[in-house]
Amino acid sequence: MSSVAPMVRIRGLRKSFGDHVVLKGIDFDVQPSQVVVVIGPSGSGKSTFLRCCNGLERPEGGSVEICGRTLVRDGRMLADRELDALREEVGMVFQSFNLFPHLSVLHNISLGPRKLRGLSRAAADDEARALLDKVGLAQKADAMPASLSGGQKQRVAIARALAMKPSVMLFDEPTSALDPELVGEVLQVMKMLASEGMTMMVVTHEMDFAREVSDLVVMMDEGVIIEAGPPETIFTSPTQDRTRLFLQAVLTRGT
Ligand code: ADP
Ligand code: MG
Repeated sequence: MSSVAPMVRIRGLRKSFGDHVVLKGIDFDVQPSQVVVVIGPSGSGKSTFLRCCNGLERPEGGSVEICGRTLVRDGRMLADRELDALREEVGMVFQSFNLFPHLSVLHNISLGPRKLRGLSRAAADDEARALLDKVGLAQKADAMPASLSGGQKQRVAIARALAMKPSVMLFDEPTSALDPELVGEVLQVMKMLASEGMTMMVVTHEMDFAREVSDLVVMMDEGVIIEAGPPETIFTSPTQDRTRLFLQAVLTRGT
């Protein structure tokens, strides 16, 4: 029997900035519908890891495959046109929302499908309205981003990423910039996506989310994955002292 191909397959991934080696050879697979939470101290390479998975960074070694298609091989990336096509398979949500400030909420979502999926304005707007409804913001279609709360902006950013019909969604600390009372509404949307079977990689310090929603927790330190396992294992009996110390620090931060 052939096993299901991984949605994301990473081998020997290396990335430096100048002579600072940030990723030191990462091997990792994400299976379809798996929710992977990436944890680790600041500067350990979590963002760089995610950014290498959608071509935002150019690694100098290793390979990245998305849905069986090669994004990077031997440190060489696809040509730009193919890269754009493959990037559509990988949605990304950042800490800082990155909405277009001069476009309405609806147009923030419909722009990508019109430009890159070739949808008519009417079709793209219809899809955008359905996505807004899904993230609980149907009434905000005509609002401008500046009028939204951080939690609402982030839900729009998620809808915008989903509008490209990605196979994988990457989240880089999606709730870290939010006031505490707005974190829950964003995590709720992410939980819904997980329950619908979306494949997700999430960098977050929200350990309750990791515990409840993730299939796998990956601990990074100094550019390597030092351990990975189901949340119940990582949170109760990590094999690495660095993981234990990191979790202690995060969990006792006091909220
Ligand atoms: P994390 O997300 O775990 O905090 P990052 O991936 O953002 O870690 O960064 C890892 C290391 O790479 C840090 O030391 C950071 O300063 C460095 N780094 C990240 N991006 C750049 C860049 N564009 N230029 C130079 N150094 C960078
Ligand atoms: Mg980061």
